[in-house]
Amino acid sequence: MSQSCGLMGDGEKPVKIHHLVKAPENTPESVASRESWDASKPVTVYKTPENLPDGSPCTAATVILRTKGCAWWWKSGCTFCGYFNDVRDDVTSEDMFSQWEEAKRRTDDFKGCKMVKVYTSGTFFEDRENPPEWQEHVLKETHDLGLHLVVEAQAQMCTDEKLQWVAERHPGCTVAIGLEAYDNTVLRFHANKGFTIKQWHKAVGLLRENSLRVKTYLLFKPPFMSEGDALEHTSKWVKEVSELSDEVSINPMNIQRGTIVDRLFRNREYRPPWLWSLVEMIVRTHDDVSATDCRVIVHPTAGGKTRGSHNCGSCDSEVVASIERYSVSGDLGEFSTLDCDCKQVWQSEIQGDASLPSPMGVGIHRRGNPLDLMRAP
Ligand code: SF4
Ligand SMILES: [Zn+2]
Repeated sequence: MSQSCGLMGDGEKPVKIHHLVKAPENTPESVASRESWDASKPVTVYKTPENLPDGSPCTAATVILRTKGCAWWWKSGCTFCGYFNDVRDDVTSEDMFSQWEEAKRRTDDFKGCKMVKVYTSGTFFEDRENPPEWQEHVLKETHDLGLHLVVEAQAQMCTDEKLQWVAERHPGCTVAIGLEAYDNTVLRFHANKGFTIKQWHKAVGLLRENSLRVKTYLLFKPPFMSEGDALEHTSKWVKEVSELSDEVSINPMNIQRGTIVDRLFRNREYRPPWLWSLVEMIVRTHDDVSATDCRVIVHPTAGGKTRGSHNCGSCDSEVVASIERYSVSGDLGEFSTLDCDCKQVWQSEIQGDASLPSPMGVGIHRRGNPLDLMRAP
């Protein structure tokens, strides 16, 4: 049979998403940008208001380090992750120690802070990514300073042996896992996440056995998903994972340079989520989440900007402020006075996504030949 039918492809071997994701870090611009930074200084250090595990308010320091980066990125990488812009594979152990010293210098030894988030653009306790002697130093020092520590990890890196090692050096710290989606198909084909739900469940069990806290990130609107589907799926996932986590942080997509999502966005085939969708998700999940001990926060990074979650432009700042206030107050009343003409446009997009067979959505930013858009994978 002829292989010339457009829908069936032209008989060529399909390009794997793996290869599409892998390309951007090799562009001359990306290499030049990475080689321009000073490996002895962290990416950034800043302080924000936070809540301790017991719910009491505190100040947290966030330290983002320049590292060798995520082992999964170098092998393949998630479709939305632009951390490769901040990493380089020649970072040494001395660099890591001097970045940490610089972070302490900039915060006056974390003066006034009760919490520190140490982010390494990958898994904090993965030895190929970060030198074990540096991991040990940070774990012990933050414990000695009486700081609650938050680190990040991929689910499959959470082995019993490593978590025991971490818990001995900083008992009770929080390990945040970017689960992104509580659905194996979405993990594989939309996020290219590199692990499965089963592996996440195993990691959660091991974290509990080692008395470590579980924080879960969910991603609102991964690529190749319509606005309506994102709202339906994420509302369901929030309910499911909040029963198993101490904290859930929902991150609406913000488009990072050089990623798969960036390509789709520049091709007008992806629109970051509407702020109205986030409000609707919060309203739908409020009662279920309130019935658990889990703290759920929605943090629209770059909210109101074109590359972040946004509405029409005129109501954005008000809606972002309401979402942020809700994260502190937990009161649905924060949304009671919100309204704007653009809400109708959003509503018709959600209704269209629910009734038309268009896998990537019917939104106005999906421009191009309508027939091609309907056939899009
Ligand atoms: S696991 Fe995390 S750091 Fe690694 S590629 Fe995915 S999102 Fe980026
Ligand atoms: Zn508006």
